[in-house]
Amino acid sequence: MMKRSSEVSGFYKLSPEERLKYVAEFAGLTEEEVKAIAATGSMKIEDVNRMIENVIGTFELPFGIATHFRINGEDRLIPMAIEEPSVVAAASKAAKIARAGGGFHTTSTEPIMIGQVQIVDVPDPHGARLKILEKKEEILALANEQDPVLMKFGGGAKDVEVRVIDSPRGKMVIVHLLVDCRDAMGANAVNTMAEAVGPYLERITGGRVYLRIISNLAIYRLARARAVFPKEELGGEDVVDAVIEAWAFAAADPFRCATHNKGIMNGVSAVVRATGNDTRAVEAGAHSYAYFKHGHYGPLTYYEKDSDGNLVGTIELPVAVGIIGGATKVHPVARAAIKILGVKSARELGEVLAAVGLAQNFAALRALATEGIQRGHMALHARNIAAMVGAVGEEIDILVQKMVEMKKVRMDIAEELLKELRSGK
Ligand code: NAD
Repeated sequence: MMKRSSEVSGFYKLSPEERLKYVAEFAGLTEEEVKAIAATGSMKIEDVNRMIENVIGTFELPFGIATHFRINGEDRLIPMAIEEPSVVAAASKAAKIARAGGGFHTTSTEPIMIGQVQIVDVPDPHGARLKILEKKEEILALANEQDPVLMKFGGGAKDVEVRVIDSPRGKMVIVHLLVDCRDAMGANAVNTMAEAVGPYLERITGGRVYLRIISNLAIYRLARARAVFPKEELGGEDVVDAVIEAWAFAAADPFRCATHNKGIMNGVSAVVRATGNDTRAVEAGAHSYAYFKHGHYGPLTYYEKDSDGNLVGTIELPVAVGIIGGATKVHPVARAAIKILGVKSARELGEVLAAVGLAQNFAALRALATEGIQRGHMALHARNIAAMVGAVGEEIDILVQKMVEMKKVRMDIAEELLKELRSGK
């Protein structure tokens, strides 16, 4: 029996197989568990091993397709990678209703990210602010030397903003480099540029540069979507009112709003993940923008009634995603997902995300405001519970049906039902 220690020097130097062996011994994994971790699906273990550190295998997720999306007059199938039941079905249902009202209409800004440079110990912060702005062209030129490839595609640092902020450590001068990232998410390009201008900023301000890093509050990289959900398709004007009522709750209450925006991100993050993009980057952007836009934490969507009584839904959110860079080109399924979507630019992908976010949010509000969210969830949830207690094949269907009928989807009930079933009762 080996000593159970997490202090493994040189773990990173081992091969994935050797690391997995260590972990298996440490945790007493069965052969089956080891096999499940080691299975690599569409990816080669060498590629996975290059993506992150201390790799022992891969982790799979369901990959599904949301249907019925029509965006700016074009039909799109939407790939989603997500573990949560109901999300794909809800998005498809919402897209079907939106389709009857002409589908989603989207727009976006240029793909501009912000790189921040923090300058501390500046004796005259406001003077320094203007000095920096006087040298804008020099700063942009320095930044743009860093990424000739991005420049070639028409991107690069385009503008400089300077803010003086009050912090618990006194005033700080914060420089924003506004970088057009074209079809990349851009974190690496932006961080490199922010680092490159640091010494020059120290020279002109007399301060000390600390952090140089991209901001996920990407207020200049927005995507928007609008859709009309016809009242007839919704089941009447009562339902239109109910959805607006549900949205107003989120607009007035941060406890509700957190879940409202989470519902938006159910769809957005599933597509972000499916395309190999950074879900944390987009989530951070969405939630911080939900605060920034209103001056308090608020919803990313709006719902109103048009003059005919139909529901008008809109969304605006930051979309820091790419179709090159990161894992988008390395992951074979992510590459295929971008092909399925048929997007030709990062902006187009961002606009799809906005449409999906609106669809997902509308579906959740409609369900909540009418039948209650649990009904739709219940059957899928029941399947998971049935499988969890060890039901297989037909047993799962029988357990699901019984639990849904009883309106009790619980592990203890499932266990009981399975026991009864197997004992032939
Ligand atoms: P990347 O560095 O792999 O690729 C971007 C580069 O590709 C560009 O700088 C450019 O030189 C080149 N390029 C080629 N064709 C291009 C085109 N048509 N448009 C634009 N650029 C083109 O990737 P990235 O997008 O800089 O970085 C994304 C990764 O950074 C993600 O994996 C993310 O997880 C990670 N990251 C995120 C954060 C954050 O969100 N705070 C911070 C650090 C890193």
